[in-house]
Amino acid sequence: METVRLSSTLSSGKSFLEKVQTESQVNVRDCYQCGKCSAGCPFVEAMDYSSHKILRLLQLGQIETVLKSKSIWICSHCATCYTRCPKKVDIPRLMEFLRMEANRQGFIGEKTVNIFSNLFLTSVRLTGRVHEMGTMGFYNLLSGHLFQDVLSAPGLFFNGKITPIPHLIKNRKVIQKIFANTKQRQGES
Ligand code: SF4
Ligand code: SF4
Repeated sequence: METVRLSSTLSSGKSFLEKVQTESQVNVRDCYQCGKCSAGCPFVEAMDYSSHKILRLLQLGQIETVLKSKSIWICSHCATCYTRCPKKVDIPRLMEFLRMEANRQGFIGEKTVNIFSNLFLTSVRLTGRVHEMGTMGFYNLLSGHLFQDVLSAPGLFFNGKITPIPHLIKNRKVIQKIFANTKQRQGES
């Protein structure tokens, strides 16, 4: 019984690895588990699985474990791992793909990161840049962290670092076109 479950996991894992390679250009099988990526990752302490473990789980077909993990949301895409990897496995690109895939399948391991990410992108789409005050206000509301960073707001406001009115860039149609094209490409994949 156990053998059947394992082999079906591995076969679905195989097709998932092909999908990863097609959509992110990352070959998960290139990783030989030296661990150099995890050793240099500045966020490894906050992750439930370090980057080399994420790669190993994928190689073993443990897709759901990976998609439900916090690690894929905590990765900041700093690319330290990529610069250290002797096999040049592009982990930031892989993490971004895994995030999108988790989103598509309804697995959000770190809801606050997803809330912030969606607000950030909405602000860029509508105004062409990030409106810090609006983004942080909505973030506090939606995440339930109502008073997070509230004490620093007056200082930032009086120093002109944040403003209640968003600055709009001139050619916002170009930005909106980028978002529309991206959405269309995601629909095709
Ligand atoms: S550094 Fe590269 S080869 Fe080594 S464990 Fe990380 S991804 Fe795999
Ligand atoms: S890109 Fe992500 S996984 Fe790689 S070192 Fe940075 S935070 Fe860690």
